[in-house]
Amino acid sequence: MTTFAELGLAPDILRALDEMGYVTPTPIQEQVIPLALQGGDILGAAQTGTGKTAAFALPLIQRLLPFANTSTSPAKHPIRALILTPTRELAIQVEEAIQAYTKHVPLRSLVVYGGVNINTQIPILKTGVEILVATPGRLLDHVQNKTLMLTQVNTLVLDEADRMLDMGFMPDLKRIVALLPAQRVNMMFSATFPEEIRRLADTILHNPTFIEVARNETAVTVTQVVHPVQHERKRQLLAHLIKSRDLRQVLVFTGTKLGCNRLANELNKAGIHADAIHGDKTQQERIKALDAFKAGTIRVLVATDVAARGLDIEALPLVVNYDLPHNAEDYVHRIGRTGRAGASGEAISLVSESETRYLKDIEKLIGSTLAPVIVPGFEPGVADVPVFQSRPPRSERHGERTERRTSRTHPPTPRDALFDTPYEPSISPRAETTSALVRPAPRKQVAALFRTPVKPDSAGQ
Ligand code: AMP
Repeated sequence: MTTFAELGLAPDILRALDEMGYVTPTPIQEQVIPLALQGGDILGAAQTGTGKTAAFALPLIQRLLPFANTSTSPAKHPIRALILTPTRELAIQVEEAIQAYTKHVPLRSLVVYGGVNINTQIPILKTGVEILVATPGRLLDHVQNKTLMLTQVNTLVLDEADRMLDMGFMPDLKRIVALLPAQRVNMMFSATFPEEIRRLADTILHNPTFIEVARNETAVTVTQVVHPVQHERKRQLLAHLIKSRDLRQVLVFTGTKLGCNRLANELNKAGIHADAIHGDKTQQERIKALDAFKAGTIRVLVATDVAARGLDIEALPLVVNYDLPHNAEDYVHRIGRTGRAGASGEAISLVSESETRYLKDIEKLIGSTLAPVIVPGFEPGVADVPVFQSRPPRSERHGERTERRTSRTHPPTPRDALFDTPYEPSISPRAETTSALVRPAPRKQVAALFRTPVKPDSAGQ
C-alpha cells in the first residue's frame, strides 16, 4: 500500500497528516498528488467523501513551500492559490482542512463567502494570505472593492464545478478566470460532466489528466437507515439498538460537544461502555479514546464532526447519526467512516421532527430518498413520556417544543427502564439484522409520521 511519504510530500506536510490520523492515501489522492506535484492540470471526477480536498490541497501547499515565509509585510503574502467552491459550507470546510495541512508551514489561508459583512474579511485580506478559498460572488465583490489582487495566482482549483453550474455561477467563474495570470496550474473537480462543464474544462484546463474514482465507493456499500423518533427518546432508542443487536463497535455523531459528553455519560450509566471525543479534548485524550475504541475496550465512541475528521477505523461496521448534521455534506462524511475500502457498513440516523428539514437536504445531496423505518416501541407520533430526571442542556433542546407539547397528555414515568437496567449481554452474540428488529414505516414522508400518530400495532401495515 502506498504511503503519503511515497507520494513525495514534504516532511512538514507529512507531520500534519500524521497528527490528523491520515494513514494511507485514498485512491484519488494516490492518483492526483504525484501529477499535481509536477504541475500538471487535472480534471477529477470525484464526490465529497473520497478525500478530494487533500488530493488538490496537499500538492498545492507543497508547490507553495518555496514562497512560505514569516515576514509581517503583506507584500510577502500575495494570493498565490485560489480555490473556488459553490457553497460557504464547503468553502469553510476546505479552508479548515488547509489550516490543518499547513499547521507546520508559514503559509496563510483565508476563506471568504457571501452572506456575512464584507468588512470583517478586509483586514485579514490586507495582512496578506497565500491561499484563498472563496465562493465566486463574494470573490468578485472583493475584486470590485479592490480589496484583493489576483495577479500572482499560480494555482486555480474549481471544486464541485457542477454545483457551481447548477447554482448559476458560470458567468462569475468566467469573469474570475479572465482576471488570473495565464501561466498557472488548474485543477477542476466535478461529480458529473454535463456538456457545459466539459466546455468549461476545455477553456480552463491545458492538456488535463482525467482522473476518476468510482462513484463514491464508500456510499454504495453503506446501508442507510432512518429511524423517525421523538427527540426525547433518542437515548433510549440508541441503547435499545445497541443492546438488542449486541452492537460492539459503534461510532455515534452528535451535533454539540455538550451533547457528546452527556450521551457518553448516559450510555455508561446504562452499562454501555462509551467515551466522547470533541474539540475540547486534548489530542492525547482523543488518541486514547480512539485506541480503546479500536481495541474494543469501549463499545461506543461519541464524536462531533470536527473531532471525527480524519478518523480511519478499519472495517467500522456502524455509524449512528444521533443528531442529523445541519450541513448535508457532513452526512456523507459521517457515513463514509463505515463501508470503507469496499467493506459493507451501516449508517443509522435517528431523526426527530425538527430534523426532517435536514433530512430533505441530505436526500437532495445524495440523490435518493431514505425510507423511514419505525422501531416498535419508538413510534414517532405516539405521545411520549419524560425520560430524563434532569433537563437536557439548552444546546440539545432545539425542536423540543412541539415534541413536549404532545407529552403532557400522558402520565409522567419517572424512570427510564433501559438506562436504569444494568447491561447484560444478549443471549446470542450474533448481531441481528435491522430487518429482523424493525418494521418498515407506512410509505410516508418522515415529517408526516410525526404529524399522524402511528399506533405501535399499525406500523408497517
Ligand atoms: P473530502 O472528500 O475531501 O471531503 O474528505 C472526506 C473526509 O475524509 C474528510 O473528513 C477528510 O478529513 C478525510 N480524509 C481525507 N483523506 C483521508 C485519508 N487519507 N485518511 C483518512 N481520512 C481522510
